[in-house]
Amino acid sequence: MDSLVTKGAIMFFTQLQAAKQGVITDEMKIVARKEGLSEEQICSLVAAGKVVIPCNKNHKSISPEGIGKALRTKINANLGTSKDCKDYEAELDKVQTAVKLGADSIMDLSTHGDTRIFRRVLTEKCTAMIGTVPIYDSVIHHQKDLAFLTAKDFLDTVRLHAEDGVDFITVHCGITRQTVHQIKTHKRKLNIVSRGGSLLFAWMHMTGQENPFYEYFDDILDICVEYDVTLSLGDACRPGCLADATDVCQIEELVRLGELTKRARQRGVQVMIEGPGHMALNEIQANMEVQERLCDGAPFYVLGPLVTDIAPGYDHITAAIGGAVAGMHGASFLCYVTPAEHLALPNLQDVEEGIMAFKIAAHAADIARGIRGARDKDDAMADARKKLDWEAQYALAMNPDRARRIRESRAPEKDHEDTCSMCGKFCAVRSMNKALNDEFIDII
Ligand code: SF4
Repeated sequence: MDSLVTKGAIMFFTQLQAAKQGVITDEMKIVARKEGLSEEQICSLVAAGKVVIPCNKNHKSISPEGIGKALRTKINANLGTSKDCKDYEAELDKVQTAVKLGADSIMDLSTHGDTRIFRRVLTEKCTAMIGTVPIYDSVIHHQKDLAFLTAKDFLDTVRLHAEDGVDFITVHCGITRQTVHQIKTHKRKLNIVSRGGSLLFAWMHMTGQENPFYEYFDDILDICVEYDVTLSLGDACRPGCLADATDVCQIEELVRLGELTKRARQRGVQVMIEGPGHMALNEIQANMEVQERLCDGAPFYVLGPLVTDIAPGYDHITAAIGGAVAGMHGASFLCYVTPAEHLALPNLQDVEEGIMAFKIAAHAADIARGIRGARDKDDAMADARKKLDWEAQYALAMNPDRARRIRESRAPEKDHEDTCSMCGKFCAVRSMNKALNDEFIDII
């Protein structure tokens, strides 16, 4: 194991093992600088499992980020090929766009072709954290249909992804034969909508065996320690519609994820927990609080939640609304949703819209949580608006090009070009500036 780091008499493989011994790693220093916290604060948050720094030793190009409630909310973009859309170049374009627009991590969810080449390009070149779901790749890599895969095949895929430099892996360890029974007896409206969860359910149903990611959890921990892979404990039973939210299947799995969190931390493996899903707005706060309690403050990574089921084509909005509320109440990592959700593999424009929606949600949550410096740009924007300083407004905008393009496409006339074409000479800001300066306010 050449991943062992020694500092004097202290030895560690993972960020968590280092933090528990009070060692401040280079990655912790970078995260501290980015977040405006002290290195000691980051070290103690990592030691307590409240912050994770997903950073595989083989991902050399990474710019490390911390994920946790005390830090800026991070966002993830899901990408990757499918059998119907298998253009690797197009996926790489999406990766570059996603990182440029501010995605903190990329999850490669490829389910077609030579997935290893794409994965290795990502960990060789991408500065963002890289995540995968090894069970998707098990079928592709071993070229076996689901029923013929063995527990060893699944574990070999986990090792393959760890060797390739993946920073965090989603493994659905919390679904067991008990859950299979639960799903069959407790009728849900939409059963299981997690792709990995449904594959495991099907595998257990067909083979009669226990979930290998649960049964061989300790072997997975060994691999994670060796490469410092962070576990993202997947929520196979996340609700896929409002009617299934916060039901017994979801909560029963969450209880088990809490138990597994303790086992992983004892072994020195960093852990975050994945969460819902589809959920009415009024249920989100309670769900965040229950997760925090059951999983001892492990960072919560949520998909949305989508707060209504009837807006296909606009699910980046339904999910960003839920994401902002989830973030305000403690979720620290938001998985983006694009307008193509439930409909198709996202194209480049879908990726852009999804990322911008979630940047806004994450930022809104940071302001609400009082994250240090989160509101600085908002206050500067208010100053620029008061001065009708358009260049300053563009510079502060999350997407300066879009702001400029819209204003300039419908520019005001020359005698009131300091305003915009929304109100022209009825501009409230202009009128107030002139009135408070004792100037004449010309409207006609
Ligand atoms: S014209 Fe209206 S919308 Fe435009 S800057 Fe002035 S007050 Fe705002």
